Amino acid sequence: MHSHQNGSRSVARPSHLLKTFPRFVAAVPKFELADQMDDGESSPIAHFEHTGSKNSAGVGVSCRQSHQELAYSTATANQLAKKRAIMYRVTRQIDFCYGHRLLNYDGKCKHLHGHNGRAIISIEAESLDSRGMVMDFSDIKSVVSRWIDENLDHRMILSREDPAIPFLQQLGEPVFLIEENPTAENIAKLIYDFAVGRDYPVVRVDLWETRSCYASYSRLG
Ligand SMILES: [Zn+2]
Repeated sequence: MHSHQNGSRSVARPSHLLKTFPRFVAAVPKFELADQMDDGESSPIAHFEHTGSKNSAGVGVSCRQSHQELAYSTATANQLAKKRAIMYRVTRQIDFCYGHRLLNYDGKCKHLHGHNGRAIISIEAESLDSRGMVMDFSDIKSVVSRWIDENLDHRMILSREDPAIPFLQQLGEPVFLIEENPTAENIAKLIYDFAVGRDYPVVRVDLWETRSCYASYSRLG
């Protein structure tokens, strides 16, 4: 018989639960039996409390749950665990020089000038390829680095609205035109969008405009 003590009490693990849910019980360091009957009759209802590490993504379950419910709980726990999965990440930095000027801006960058920029490309994957890599560094170089070399390096990156464009083009100066103001943020996005367009699993691009300032554009989650 179960004795009542403030409606619940801690007991040792019953062997029938270990048989029914061996995997779950093994992952649960603590549970308690609670008598929730109002008529004074004993009616043990087990409430498992998961107090282990979050990696095991355990969920509380009562012994009233059916096997289907338990299966659902386990599937949900697995999904949660997957969301928390550790990812592999590689980065490659690409140095290049670019010129720009900012419109509607009252500071040094409103005049045509240049930067020794550095783009840092970060790529992630849940698993590695047969070589044990997220991606070969030389693959990043051959595609992203080449595109930067051919399109941004030693060019003026300017807004399409910039009135200086006709003069620069008349002088034969190389320009790369974008819809937005050519801030570090928008140049980071430009490189990110190019990499995504090539199906690279890019998660973030940092664009260092100077040795002390950078902007980044990244995927959330
Ligand atoms: Zn600048």
